[in-house]
Amino acid sequence: MNRSALFGEPTERGVRCTLCPHRCDIAEGREGTCRVRGVRGGQLLSLVYGRPATVVSDEIEKKPLYHFHPGTRALSLGTLGCNVLCSGCQNWQISHASAGRGAAEKLPTLTPKEAVAMARRHKLAGVAWTYNDPVVWAEYVHDVAVAFRAAGLYTAFITAGYISREALDYLAPHLDAFKFDLKAPGAKGWSWFTKVKDPEPCFEAAVRAKTIHGCHVEVVSNIVPGLNDDEPSVIAMAEWVRDHLGPNTPWHVTRFLPDFELSYLKATPIPTLERAAALGRKAGLRFVYVGNVPGHASRHTVCPACGRTAIHRGERGAEEVWVKAGRCAVCGEDLQVVQ
Ligand SMILES: [Zn+2]
Repeated sequence: MNRSALFGEPTERGVRCTLCPHRCDIAEGREGTCRVRGVRGGQLLSLVYGRPATVVSDEIEKKPLYHFHPGTRALSLGTLGCNVLCSGCQNWQISHASAGRGAAEKLPTLTPKEAVAMARRHKLAGVAWTYNDPVVWAEYVHDVAVAFRAAGLYTAFITAGYISREALDYLAPHLDAFKFDLKAPGAKGWSWFTKVKDPEPCFEAAVRAKTIHGCHVEVVSNIVPGLNDDEPSVIAMAEWVRDHLGPNTPWHVTRFLPDFELSYLKATPIPTLERAAALGRKAGLRFVYVGNVPGHASRHTVCPACGRTAIHRGERGAEEVWVKAGRCAVCGEDLQVVQ
């Protein structure tokens, strides 16, 4: 199901991929940094178009998206490769894998139409692209998104936002939710943790998704010891969310669990997460959540106006939703919940 890719410019030796700011110069027979866009016969191809490595049904809260269709489940699709390539990735078996040398052909195929039929069959409310950064299979994401929207189902994009403006403008009109991974406040943290040297395009993409394309945006910061757990970093991230996306934007501070190249680190201590959450609230964010800590009290949505628990979450997803048309069912406060 190889498909010729969009966002390529011919060069003397092959093709320059302009999908993301890496702008890889890819030679004949090779792949880009993401390992899933390659040049074959002088053409840039998406080697993973319609080739998911992961097809599961997840609670939307797992993404995490807490203010977006709470209590529903989404068809969750991931594939090989990634353009961010975090050193502590929990899905490194797929995200750091190459689609070259026949690896993609071993994956099952799933057309956009089949994906919609699967969602309908299992009574899922939408689709989420997750587990690896969905930027890398933008053409497939686009076609699946169009099909889901046409079927009256939602679309959720789980990303670090390292994408060219042109590609974002191609995808985002078809996306309902955009979950942005704010990995660190600046270039130092991003380049230590990922293959992104300059995160400015990521910041721009998140803001543009919200302001130009009207996507529902939530932000996650995985708090990693030594990377972004110091007070100035936490405050800088919280203030960035407040100033660029607004104080009603849900901010999830999640627990880092050692994996892959960062297996030598310890899991984030829970008091560190609680301090980060408190700093977020102090910065003026109205919906701050502690994630990756089973049973933690900060997983519920508390109405900032009346103090009632508006969304009560169990271990897996929302169990009680006291929200009507996005507002607190008790006092009518706008909780910015998409339903
Ligand atoms: Zn209320």
